[in-house]
Amino acid sequence: MTATTTTKVYIDKSACVGCGMCQRVCPTGAITIRSGLADIDEKKCIGCGRCIEACPRRSIHRYSPVTHENLENMVDSLKKNADSLMERIEKLKKKTQGINCDGA
Ligand code: SF4
Ligand code: SF4
Repeated sequence: MTATTTTKVYIDKSACVGCGMCQRVCPTGAITIRSGLADIDEKKCIGCGRCIEACPRRSIHRYSPVTHENLENMVDSLKKNADSLMERIEKLKKKTQGINCDGA
């Protein structure tokens, strides 16, 4: 099994000046300069972050792409929160039923 990263990078094109510093440090050849602006091939990017450090304009940023794995993790987390909430609601219901039976 190969190691994978779930973060990628994107370029704020309004800040890019096409200097090519990011392209020079990218180990996978994911960056090309097109029409004076850097462009990233997401499929080649391994999320190493070297381009972020190299960019003099701070125009490269990280993001988490919506992957099947990320979505599954989010759904699992939401289910756990919902289960926990339902348990607390059931406990509160039992407590309040007890209070009502006493005629309070
Ligand atoms: S994060 Fe790494 S692999 Fe991805 S574009 Fe930047 S230098 Fe290349
Ligand atoms: S290093 Fe920054 S400014 Fe230079 S080409 Fe890459 S993204 Fe654009």
